[in-house]
Amino acid sequence: MGYPRIKSNKEAIIHNVKQISKMCHDKGIELTGVVKVARGEPALAKLYLENGVDIIGDSRIANIRKMKNAGINGPFMLLRIPMPSEIEDLVRYVDITLVSELKTVETIGKAALNKGKRQKIIYMIDLGDLREGVWFENAFDEVLKASQIRGVELYGIGTNLGCYGGVVPDIDNMSLLSEIAKKIRNKGIDFKIVSGGNTAAVYLIENDLLPREINGYRLGESIILGTDTTNNRAFPFLRQDTFTLEAEIIELKTKPSVPHGKIGRDAMGRVPIFEDLGNRLKAIVAMGEQDIQPDGMIPLEKGIKVLHASSDHTVLDVTEFDGKLDIGSILKFRLTYGALLRAMTSEYVEKIWDF
Ligand SMILES: *Cc1c(COP(=O)(O)O)cnc(C)c1O
Repeated sequence: MGYPRIKSNKEAIIHNVKQISKMCHDKGIELTGVVKVARGEPALAKLYLENGVDIIGDSRIANIRKMKNAGINGPFMLLRIPMPSEIEDLVRYVDITLVSELKTVETIGKAALNKGKRQKIIYMIDLGDLREGVWFENAFDEVLKASQIRGVELYGIGTNLGCYGGVVPDIDNMSLLSEIAKKIRNKGIDFKIVSGGNTAAVYLIENDLLPREINGYRLGESIILGTDTTNNRAFPFLRQDTFTLEAEIIELKTKPSVPHGKIGRDAMGRVPIFEDLGNRLKAIVAMGEQDIQPDGMIPLEKGIKVLHASSDHTVLDVTEFDGKLDIGSILKFRLTYGALLRAMTSEYVEKIWDF
């Protein structure tokens, strides 16, 4: 087997799936387990469904199609609001889709009717994060209109926070969402789910702060890494040892810590900054920006520091490492969500699913 590679830890992932499922189900919350960071890996989706997840979520239809073709029955939720050009596939492969445009809902309704079905939709409401959704002040009118479109079934309303603007889900914006839900229901329009949260909103369940109306969560990072980037923390009841990245040393030499010569821009167009620490023992591993987000690599061993990467080389300072290293030695890392995303997406990084 080759390097670099990512090894998954089945036991740790199962632990997280079970903990999160129980936590949600105890509060009557329907759990969508999000697998997009792993490109919709069917083995992962299977594990999620076997251990308590209700729905599999992914942002790309190509991933949902892959899982279906691998024999995973879903149900599947499409997390990215669809492109008009992919509605045929959507009606074919997706059970529930997030939406935010009436025109797209019309197209979905027509395609669904042609197939003799009704497509479930969750209408997204922007509560301030500035990614998808109708702005909350206009939500009532727009969702009412969507609910009248033939060929679709309003399965729920939802929101996404934390991902783009970094707006933290809190009691205020969750209450706003539940108020909108009540107002629509008072009009006689019913729907099953108010889909409130991603990982950044898990603390609201933990601390029992969630308005009763919110009964759907879509969770990726918390399950797969046991972390919450938006709130900058690790969940104490979840495991973080779900994946290990392994990379191979191709050069090991003592060199200055500051480059020699006039400094322009690096391979990525950045002006690198160096601190002068004198001569240091440096290792180069065969992996770069194409495969990894270097500042999201967390060395497993003490005394190793990731310095900087170009497209195919990552340079580490290993001076303080108190063990033996050589050409061909393997260094191990934990990954942040961003780094895991890039590593999973790089076809040069081998993925080892031990399940
Ligand atoms: C990716 C995504 C999620 C999952 O977010 P996490 O922060 O990984 O839990 C939820 N909802 C939508 C719409 C997403 O795109």
